[in-house]
Amino acid sequence: FDPALIAGATLRIDLDALVDNYRRIEARTAPARVAAVVKANGYGLGAEPVSRALYDAGCRHFFVAQLGEAVVLRPSLAQDAALYVLNGLQPGAEPCCAEIGAIPVLNAPDQIARWAETARARGARLRAALQLDSGMARLGLAPEDAARLAADPAALADIELTLVMSHLACADEGDVAANAAQWRAFQARAAAWPGVPRSLDNSGGAFLPRGDHLDLVRPGIALYGGAPTFGEANPMRPVVSLTARIVQVRDVPAGAGVGYGLTSVADHARRIATIAVGYADGWPRHLSNRGAAFIAGTRAPIAGRVSMDSITLDVTDVPEAALAPGAPVELLGPHQGIDQVAAEAGTIAYEILTQLGSRYARIYQ
Ligand code: PLP
Repeated sequence: FDPALIAGATLRIDLDALVDNYRRIEARTAPARVAAVVKANGYGLGAEPVSRALYDAGCRHFFVAQLGEAVVLRPSLAQDAALYVLNGLQPGAEPCCAEIGAIPVLNAPDQIARWAETARARGARLRAALQLDSGMARLGLAPEDAARLAADPAALADIELTLVMSHLACADEGDVAANAAQWRAFQARAAAWPGVPRSLDNSGGAFLPRGDHLDLVRPGIALYGGAPTFGEANPMRPVVSLTARIVQVRDVPAGAGVGYGLTSVADHARRIATIAVGYADGWPRHLSNRGAAFIAGTRAPIAGRVSMDSITLDVTDVPEAALAPGAPVELLGPHQGIDQVAAEAGTIAYEILTQLGSRYARIYQ
């Protein structure tokens, strides 16, 4: 069976646009190398196909958040691709991390000690990245721990440091003081490990007006078509489109309610179309009675609450010819992208992407 005919909607992932976005970031940040952040299943778009396409484009550094993600992804990556685990090592996870050849991002002294111990037990040095907290206060060595480590080279004797990194708290806000402060703090602290490649910038960082992007940039959202800088024109190509199909159309008289709670009522007769996408597919329930879909280019507002498996649209203004059962309904596409839907839902494009459900027919093109 054709998956597009039996699913409620079809999610298309444009791998050419993904690679194009990768190239745009490369061009902006050269001579830095560009990694790919593929955590949360490649921001919901499929870590394996996304990684494969980017590997073919020359990417050799991949980042997931959790070791469990690395366990799934590592076998499909080529040997010369480095796979980093951003959240570092939970106690007891070290043997698995070593076994699969993932590279932990060591965020705290206890993680460093246990990783060194694992290396000694295995009789071989183990690769790791070191994360320094440069001001975000989330993950990474606190300044005093970094200073202590710098004064104790023996602590890293069994570890091959492949990267010293940090993460920006305000990268998507543009050229604000916090970004400059983190840059200075990171550069000062990372100097304790001369010769080790450095990485600071995510998508937003790659688009900061700063000439130096160090050795490696780590974009996620910009690869997937999201705006790297909040509120500015988006320089990336859209990667995702989501198209549902009309299940049923009905005429609703003036004064009649639509959907759970009958929350949508109008003083005029309306035509309502139902599509088979709901909050179980990641379409935010917060878009109930706000937001819209597009049918043949005409805006069709969401009327009533978003249900688990369906959405009702006010299609009164949509030409009749575009309302046949099975006709296409744009949820993500040329008329509304992930940033717009996120703004309407009061969230960010990251959340829209990572919540995309598992019931869609997925087409990689
Ligand atoms: N680096 C780290 C440590 C992250 O946590 C993330 C994602 O949150 C990224 C890079 C990629 O960020 P973005 O998707 O904003 O480019």
